[in-house]
Parts: sequence; structure tokens; C-alpha cells
Amino acid sequence: MESATSRAAPTTVTPKLGHHIGGRVVPGAAGRSGPVFDPATGTMSAQVAFASASEVQAAVAAARAALPAWMETPALQRARVMFRFKALLEAHAEELARLISSQHGKVVADARGELARGIEVVEFACGIPHLLKGEFSDTVGGGIDSWSLRQPVGVCAGITPFNFPAMVPLWMFPIALACGNTFVLKPSEKDPGCPLRLAELLLEAGAPAAVLNVVNGDRVAVDALLTHPEVAAVSFVGSTPVAEHVYRTASAHGKRVQALGGAKNHLVVMPDADARLAAQALMGAAFGSAGERCMAISAAIAVGAAGDRLIAELQAQIARLVVGPGDDSTVEMGPLITREHLERVRTYIELGVQEGARLVVDGRRLTVPTHPGGFFLGASLFDEVTPQMRVYKEEIFGPVLVVVRVPDFERALELVNAHEYGNGASIFTRDGAAARRFCHFAQAGMVGVNVAIPVPMAFHSFGGWKRSLFGALHVHGQDGVRFYTRLKTVSARWPDGAAAGTDFNLPTME
Ligand code: NAD
Repeated sequence: MESATSRAAPTTVTPKLGHHIGGRVVPGAAGRSGPVFDPATGTMSAQVAFASASEVQAAVAAARAALPAWMETPALQRARVMFRFKALLEAHAEELARLISSQHGKVVADARGELARGIEVVEFACGIPHLLKGEFSDTVGGGIDSWSLRQPVGVCAGITPFNFPAMVPLWMFPIALACGNTFVLKPSEKDPGCPLRLAELLLEAGAPAAVLNVVNGDRVAVDALLTHPEVAAVSFVGSTPVAEHVYRTASAHGKRVQALGGAKNHLVVMPDADARLAAQALMGAAFGSAGERCMAISAAIAVGAAGDRLIAELQAQIARLVVGPGDDSTVEMGPLITREHLERVRTYIELGVQEGARLVVDGRRLTVPTHPGGFFLGASLFDEVTPQMRVYKEEIFGPVLVVVRVPDFERALELVNAHEYGNGASIFTRDGAAARRFCHFAQAGMVGVNVAIPVPMAFHSFGGWKRSLFGALHVHGQDGVRFYTRLKTVSARWPDGAAAGTDFNLPTME
């Protein structure tokens, strides 16, 4: 692996990031805060305030106060705010991508990509007048008409992970707001700069103050949202243990919840697949964003003769992978988010060796001489991994690809389906029958055929199965509209004759 060399000198100012409540930047009370790092240099670039329960209370109160006027604003006018927001996001795309890269570490081109996927959700939300159209049935009974409509649920909360500081918040609040709700966002404390900037741009787009509020912080802020009586719905994206905690706590407090968790996405390589193409796809899917993607492929299942060719191709391609700071346009893979996470991933590599897997490429050997303090790790490749090993069973969330060899398609499918997680699963093959069988039987929420990262577009919905999602509805697309609205069905009669008299039987509308 090569290392890139150039990067601008680190900043000497340490900004303090607060909250965005009621349309204003709120510095955050004196008290708890956390560091935001530049992962490429390892230096602290900002400090972020950690909200107390009373600061969360202020944000929810602001969102609650903004609700009546916003929910009565015609959907067309709410959509126009989204149109302007989309234009502003596009105008500020480069600034936002660089901000993401500077706090997350991913390469700027990849940050542009995540922003583009987020903007597509705003684009989808622009169609809200059409999406909210209800259903009407004429004459369901004598002189009775019936119709169904969707109304906002109220104050919604979103809790988001570090790995997509633009895209994941944009999965949530544009649709929630377009549906007439108001929102409190609690982004990851590791890279809060971009979410705060999104709130400013939404205000500039003409959204009333307080329809979107951002509180920064940790578990204290999250738990205050999960138990707050004025919060009606909670969207969460993050690791599975926290997703489960969010689902249980918010449900117990009477809220609707969608909680998306972790993943161990499998890519099945059939013997008839082009090994080079499969390896190229795996390189991006396993090592893009340093493997810190919920849709990263972290387990390749090589069927029969595919194994040897795949390992040889991957080994050759990893040798050419350029690792370095995210703002260098020649770099393909940036650093990990924090030193703590880097150490965790290194521990997994050691564990894989102890468990008896064959470490074909050891990413721990990589150094980036220009950035000795950065949280860098090279790409690692394990062969001869078995389903009993922890490196196969657990989400590592780093640039570590494990290869499991199986004799046939059915064994590969069994592995996909037996795994605890079921976010995405893909197959690379030229065999249409195998591909069809895979699409039909794979127990995963998102399936790819010769597509390594099958992330649905904004007008479809995103979500996993099994322990990758707690709750019934996926995010964005039609499921997003369903989640952020309550269904109401009206039955109406306008009597024009004599009163029908009292009826003690269940009405049948005849
Ligand atoms: P995380 O679970 O540590 O944090 C997510 C959010 O929860 C953050 O806002 C954090 O402040 C908060 N949080 C953390 N610990 C908490 C606790 N004990 N109680 C209450 N709140 C808590 O996740 P992360 O490290 O930021 O992100 C990586 C994880 O997110 C990975 O597991 C990845 O697979 C997952 N992820 C899933 C999807 C998906 O669509 N399924 C998408 C992106 C990321």
C-alpha cells in the first residue's frame, strides 16, 4: 500500500460547537463536552458541548411551539422550502464535503457522494404534496363517503451515527418536516460540524425557526429524547446494542420507533463470476470509507473455484490502494474516526490471527509518514475464515475483509441467512437462476446482483432485516412518509331525510 503525502497544516484555533435551538446557535451550558478530532492528523479540531436533559427540554419545547403553525402550512409551501434547501445544499456541496472529510476522515470525493445521496432525499421530499395524497371511496354505505388521510405525528427525534454525518440526518428530517412535523436532531458527537451547518442552511432556505433543532451530546441527550413525553417518534441509526436500547426505551414511552443497527454484509462470489470485477467491487465495498459504512461488505463468501482467484486479485489490488488524508485527491482510503476505534479494529485483526484465520494482508503494517499522528490503518484481508470465528460473526467496522470458502451456492445462502445481521447481501454471478434464487431467499433488507452496495435510491426505502433493524418501517421512500405520518380514515354522511332512529348494533354502513 502506498501513502499519500500532501496535506494542509492543522488549524491552531479550537472552535467550540454548541447546539442549534429555536433558529439560534446556543453555545451550550458550561459542563460536559467532548473532543472532535481531525482523524488525519490526530489533533483535536473542535470541542462539542454535551447537552444536559434541560437543554434537550429546551429544544423539544422549541420544536413543540413551532408545530401548530408548521403542520397547518400547506404541503406545497413546505415543499418549496425543500426546493430552496436542495439548491442551497448543492451550492454549498464543496464546503460541506470538506467539512465532513475534516471531521470524519473519509476522502472528499466520498463525502461528496454521501451528500449527493442525502440531497436525493430532499429531492424526494419536494414531492410531498403528491406523496401525502389520500384515498377516497365514494358511497361506502347509503349516502356515506369514506377517505383516508395522513397527518403529521408531532415532534420527531433523530439520533444519528458518525459514519454519515450528512446523509443519515438527511434520510430523516427532510421527510419528517415535509410531512408537517417538527424535529430535534441529536447527531454523533464525533463529527457534529456538518449537521449544525445543515440546520443553518435549512433556516436560510426559509424554514421557520425551531422546525429543526440540533442538540449535541451523548447518552444523556439521547435518553432525554427517548423518555420525553412531547416526542412522538424516534428515528435512530447506529450500532445494534444502542439501536435495541433506543427501540425498547422509546417504545416503552409510547413512541413509534425505527432503529437501524449494525451489519455484517455478505457478498457471494460464484465460480462463474469475473474474479477481477468481483475483486474491484469488493475493494470499494470493503475498504471505501475505511470500512466504516453500514453497507460495507465485510464478509466475502467464495464459492468453489472462485476462492483462489479472488484472493489473488484482492491481494494485488490492495497492494495498489492509496491510503492517506481525506483532502488529498489521490487518496482512496482515509483514516478511522478515532484512536480508540483504530485500536479496537487492530484488536480484531489480532483476534482473527489467534482464531486461526490466515492473514493474507496485514493492514497494521501501514504507515503514513507525513501524518504520524493520524488514525490510519491499511486494508486487511483474512482467508480461511470459519463461521465460528468472532471476526466473521461480529461487526468490526473497519478496513478488514474476511473470506469464507464454501463448496456451493446453497451453503453460501445458508451463511447469509444464519447470520445475526441482515442489512445488505449481494451475489456476483453470470447465472440468472442462482441470482433469482438469491434475491428470493436471502434474508436481508437490501439485495444486490452484481452490485456490491445495493443502497436503495431515495424514492425506495432503506432498511435491514433481523438485528439490523428494530421496528416495522424502513427509512425514506414511502416507508419514510408512513413513519412520519398518522393515518386517519373518515366516514361521513350528510343526512337529508328523517332521523334513522337509535341503533345499538355495530354499524355496517348499509
Ligand atoms: P453508535 O451506536 O455508537 O452511536 C450512534 C448514536 O447513538 C450517536 O448519536 C451516539 O451519540 C448515540 N449513542 C452512543 N451510545 C449510546 C448509548 N449507550 N445510549 C444512547 N445513545 C448512545 O454508532 P456509531 O459508532 O456512531 O456508528 C456506527 C454504527 O452505526 C455501526 O454499527 C454501523 O453499522 C451503524 N450504522 C447503521 C446504519 C444502517 O442503516 N443500518 C447506517 C449507518 C451506521
